[in-house]
Amino acid sequence: MRDLKNTCFVCKEAVLPDNSELNLTVNMPVCFRCKGTAKEKQEEKEVLDSLADGFVCGCI
Ligand SMILES: [Zn+2]
Repeated sequence: MRDLKNTCFVCKEAVLPDNSELNLTVNMPVCFRCKGTAKEKQEEKEVLDSLADGFVCGCI
């Protein structure tokens, strides 16, 4: 299995530290091609939604 830490969470491409950046919202790497795109925001939301299944929080 591929290490998620080395995979862009938007396009799922393998990334290196010098062509990606950590997205602090989801704490996962995003490549420079996806960074700042609408798709990044959409994936962010999906990741947070899936994480939210494990939490019960009325604050958002
Ligand atoms: Zn990407």
